Amino acid sequence: MPLIPVSHGRGAWLVDMDGKRYLDGISSWWVNLFGHANPRINAALKQQLDQLEHAMLAGFTHEPVIRLSEKLSTLTGGVLGHCFYASDGASATEIALKMSFHFWRNQGQTEKQEFICLKGSYHGETIGALAVTDVALFRDAYGPMIRNAHVVMSPDARQAAEGESAIDVARRAAADMERCLQERTGKIAAVILEPLVQCATGFAMHDPEYLRLVRALCDQYQVHLIADEIAVGCGRSGTFFACENAQIWPDFICLSKGISGGYLPLSLVMTRDDIYQGFYHTDVRRGFLHSHSYTGNPLACRAALATLEIFESDDVLLQNRVKAAAITQALQPLAQHAQVKHFRQQGMMWAFDAVFDNEKDESAAKTFSRRFFTQALQEELLLRPIGNTVYLMPPYILNQEEISLVGERMLKVFNQVMGETV
Ligand SMILES: *Cc1c(COP(=O)(O)O)cnc(C)c1O
Repeated sequence: MPLIPVSHGRGAWLVDMDGKRYLDGISSWWVNLFGHANPRINAALKQQLDQLEHAMLAGFTHEPVIRLSEKLSTLTGGVLGHCFYASDGASATEIALKMSFHFWRNQGQTEKQEFICLKGSYHGETIGALAVTDVALFRDAYGPMIRNAHVVMSPDARQAAEGESAIDVARRAAADMERCLQERTGKIAAVILEPLVQCATGFAMHDPEYLRLVRALCDQYQVHLIADEIAVGCGRSGTFFACENAQIWPDFICLSKGISGGYLPLSLVMTRDDIYQGFYHTDVRRGFLHSHSYTGNPLACRAALATLEIFESDDVLLQNRVKAAAITQALQPLAQHAQVKHFRQQGMMWAFDAVFDNEKDESAAKTFSRRFFTQALQEELLLRPIGNTVYLMPPYILNQEEISLVGERMLKVFNQVMGETV
């Protein structure tokens, strides 16, 4: 399939060199929140460009990074009052893992060196992040380079047995987590998880009860809880931080992707004051070192500030609840489709699994994702299923006309692809 050269973007749409348009149904891999070429973010960036494009953050600071840190801290009620910056999601994972490990070391708890992640987890593709990523496709080739973490049961609600609820599955998964914590008592530094939705593994969703149970276990076994909100943060889950759905705070939150509105590479790790204080020392070896050339880039921080200003001035979380209801409505024919199972939604994310029921459909299932992607492009939709899971993760700006278009065209594409003989 030839690459599509993108000429420009406007709102929810990307336009190619031939003038053909595509509704960005996956927010350009989950980063874009308020549309392409958003006038407010553009204006803020143009202003910042004339003020300060970049300055190193070591021994220096600047207004955008200070204001952004303060705003984010406020959004957690000051609980996670410290921000550490980098440029991409995988680096945020690395920072959280290193910070947890190093914190325990500074405390004299040098035995706490291991990590727990969930089955099907995705936390990025650098070597350290791959250690807590359980997706064979991304890690198998590098197996010998990777220091393995403990992989425990995912709370994916699709695993519910007959008569079991999502909360029952959450309890079973938490019990498996406890088994691991018990077996490795005193050895675990942190648990890392994607709160509510494991996106990369196929939009596996779980009940918020799981987060409450894991929070309690982490307290009981004195283990850090790292919430990787790189995909589900920034309002995507319905609340600004996904953990707010469960009324818990983790010890670390990783943010990236949507934080800059999908404009510029930016990531950060938020943490508690006691963890920050654990590094505050005149001995540099006790300090936390993790530098990148573009750490806290002012343009990226300014894009993030403009993004947060839109959340405030437009009451985006409230507006999204209205939009989400309309999108769910528009997807009803798919939700009730005979060849669809596990139709699911969390905030501004929708997913369902295509059902292939007999043997001869095996090749149809194998090629489903690629055929759906290709067919969707014919219908002006950018959608990339993961295996047999179709998902929609649009920017937060679809109007009613666009919502109807998405609903109708997704159904049409699905019927076409399921009806194809391969
Ligand atoms: C995308 C993603 C990452 C990695 O972010 P990059 O910027 O691609 O390195 C990590 N964790 C989750 C949950 C993600 O969705």
